[in-house]
Amino acid sequence: MLLTVLGYYGGYPYKGIGTSGYLLRDDDFNLLIDCGSGVLNELSNFISPTDLNAVVLSHYHHDHTADVGVLQYNWLAAKKPEPLPIYGHTQDFVNFAQLTSEGASKGIAYNDYEPTEIGPFKFEFMRTIHPVPAYAMRITKGDKTIVYTADTTYFDGLVDFAKGADLLITDTNFPEDVTGRKWHMNTQESGTLAKDAGVKRLLISHLPQTVDSQTMLEQSQKYAGNIPVVSAFAELEINV
Ligand SMILES: [Zn+2]
Ligand SMILES: [Zn+2]
Repeated sequence: MLLTVLGYYGGYPYKGIGTSGYLLRDDDFNLLIDCGSGVLNELSNFISPTDLNAVVLSHYHHDHTADVGVLQYNWLAAKKPEPLPIYGHTQDFVNFAQLTSEGASKGIAYNDYEPTEIGPFKFEFMRTIHPVPAYAMRITKGDKTIVYTADTTYFDGLVDFAKGADLLITDTNFPEDVTGRKWHMNTQESGTLAKDAGVKRLLISHLPQTVDSQTMLEQSQKYAGNIPVVSAFAELEINV
């Protein structure tokens, strides 16, 4: 599996870098995970957006869905014979309904009680703790696994869900000194999660615009122990 980070900021894009979006490629299958602000533009540097085979959305906050509408226009203009499948949860019917657009895309529901096969990948979902319903994803192909926490506060269930993953992608929106009640993880929680889950590699993402990325990386590494931590600002393409 080849993972390409298309945007790694939380909340809003900044200086040419978008919010959450990850292109996952394998067996000629092109899958987009989250479709934040600036993601469609970046995606076109790697593949034609109309060569996507599917999109999976973790939740319906704008920093994960801002470019869905323009992606639908892109598909509409291309007059593709089949609509683009966009997978989303149905805990919010208004937003789920937007995933279907005549001549462009079709919304498909996922849930957290059975795996969903999408192309060559098996997806398992787990509800996270966030102000709106959001789902972490465990993606398996053969003996390789990628886990994406999506947006979430830290909770113990993440450790089991991420167990032994080859790559863990975490919502690391805060430095270590931001503690208390919050809807994202800080560097300490991301690093500790990676260590406790025994993952092979940690990718910190959903980063803040106001803290130097190198600082975020060094803090996460301190808590992850000997597990290598990478950040999308340095490493955009990761082979899993
Ligand atoms: Zn977010
Ligand atoms: Zn969110």
